[in-house]
Amino acid sequence: MEKFDVIVIGGGAGGLAAARAAKRFGCRVALVEKNQLGGECTWTGCVPTKSLMRIAQVAHEAKEFSCYGLRAQQRITWDASGVFNHIKQVIQKTAQTHTPEALRAEGIEVFFGSPRFIDRSSIALGHSALSAKRFILATGSRPAIPPIRGIDEVPYLTNRTFFEQDTLPSSVIILGGGPIGCEFAPMLSKLGVKVTLVEANQRLLNNDDPELVGLLTERFTSLGIAVHAGLKISQVAQNGEQVVLTGATATGESRTLTADKLLIAAGRKPNLEGLGLEAAGVKTTPTGVVADKYLCTSVDTIYACGDIVGPYLYSHVAWRQAEVAVRNATHSWWRTKVNYDDVLWITFADEELVRVGMLEDEARKKYGKIEVIRIPYSSIDRGRMDCATYGLGKFITKRDGTIVGASIIGPRAGELIHEIQMARVAGLKLYELARVMHAYPAYNDLLLKAAREAYRLRLEQSSWARWRHRWFGSF
Ligand SMILES: Cc1cc2nc3c(=O)[nH]c(=O)nc-3n(C[C@H](O)[C@H](O)[C@H](O)COP(=O)(O)OP(=O)(O)OC[C@H]3O[C@@H](n4cnc5c(N)ncnc54)[C@H](O)[C@@H]3O)c2cc1C
Repeated sequence: MEKFDVIVIGGGAGGLAAARAAKRFGCRVALVEKNQLGGECTWTGCVPTKSLMRIAQVAHEAKEFSCYGLRAQQRITWDASGVFNHIKQVIQKTAQTHTPEALRAEGIEVFFGSPRFIDRSSIALGHSALSAKRFILATGSRPAIPPIRGIDEVPYLTNRTFFEQDTLPSSVIILGGGPIGCEFAPMLSKLGVKVTLVEANQRLLNNDDPELVGLLTERFTSLGIAVHAGLKISQVAQNGEQVVLTGATATGESRTLTADKLLIAAGRKPNLEGLGLEAAGVKTTPTGVVADKYLCTSVDTIYACGDIVGPYLYSHVAWRQAEVAVRNATHSWWRTKVNYDDVLWITFADEELVRVGMLEDEARKKYGKIEVIRIPYSSIDRGRMDCATYGLGKFITKRDGTIVGASIIGPRAGELIHEIQMARVAGLKLYELARVMHAYPAYNDLLLKAAREAYRLRLEQSSWARWRHRWFGSF
């Protein structure tokens, strides 16, 4: 039986990061993958969706030439097969950074197959067996299919099958108004697909700021997306070429929706089948593997990271968990935890919607008095230059200026949020950003304006700050 220090199971976002982290610690590492290295993120998640999003954005911006006083001589036309080919090329280029050859060159042994635990320190793989002092489970998740009557009798798409197509439907119903549904909806709409977006909760994107989600929902409607929040679908059927969904609103009104295709984006299911976790003694729940704050499962030789642990299903969270799991697995005297207070995310929904830290309500409950600073994109020069005046930044601080949360919707919000994250993690008060020189004209002006507003509030509240300001000037 071949022996390793660490065996990582699953070669997606978390597994690749775990294998590389274990190698950096000088371990003998094996990575076992069932399908192809890269996982959901490379093949059917982050990479293809963001590539398609860019294409949709370019097509949409071309329609808005008139904002700049430009007139296009010809209509922009495109063919779906060209678009899907471009996306496949982007995926292939991304996958080249984690080929089996690249990993072997880094000193990581790569095996393909379906591993099965024999006991807490060995797995069977085909006709052979491998053993290790520690295991890292990183088998990820797949689309969850909600138990709706008739769902198994109609053809449906998920993020797994969407990019296998080479045409776009003329109309689609997207089931699920979470991050995945809210990314597909605007991009398909901008590419000319008639989109209906259905969410059982009363609003889209339950984990994001309600005010900003409200703006996004209005934006979706203005793009022509039919948004049905608070609609619970109870039956799905096929009628000729059309898929028909029926359901009821919270007030009991029934609704019938039809389209060419159904795209399911209604949550995720962990990939745990066939691993023989019972043989090793690893406890699981319907949402994944049970792991403690050190990412150790119920068996002290087996750790886990990524979507099978949650609670935040993002590649960057999987990477961070992978590093922490490997450190804890290999250095029991030097254990650490993932700081989930620092979790941030970007939803690429029309304009980017980002969140870090607390929402307004959470902060009010925890701290009582807080400051909420709102800066619209229409107030920043760069936005006006780019015809990008849609959007809002919302910054939440304690009364002393400590940043407790921020949410932004608008152009480049995904980049902007990192300045706020850096300030939070470094313990800077929001008003302190105002003394950091920012280049003009940039979207970061949004943060500078928020910092100046925080400084103004600080002067109002603190006689010491007023005194200092009076004698020594600003900041
Ligand atoms: C449409 C979509 C868009 C997304 N966009 C983003 C984004 O923009 N940013 C972001 O941060 N996150 C995004 N995500 C989430 C991100 O893709 C996941 O959170 C991330 O891939 C989780 O990493 P993981 O390692 O847990 O799982 P994965 O990356 O899925 O990797 C799991 C790997 O394990 C393998 N495996 C499964 N079972 C076994 C087994 N029994 N034995 C061996 N190997 C096995 C799989 O084949 C796979 O390679 C998106 C997800 C989706 C669906």
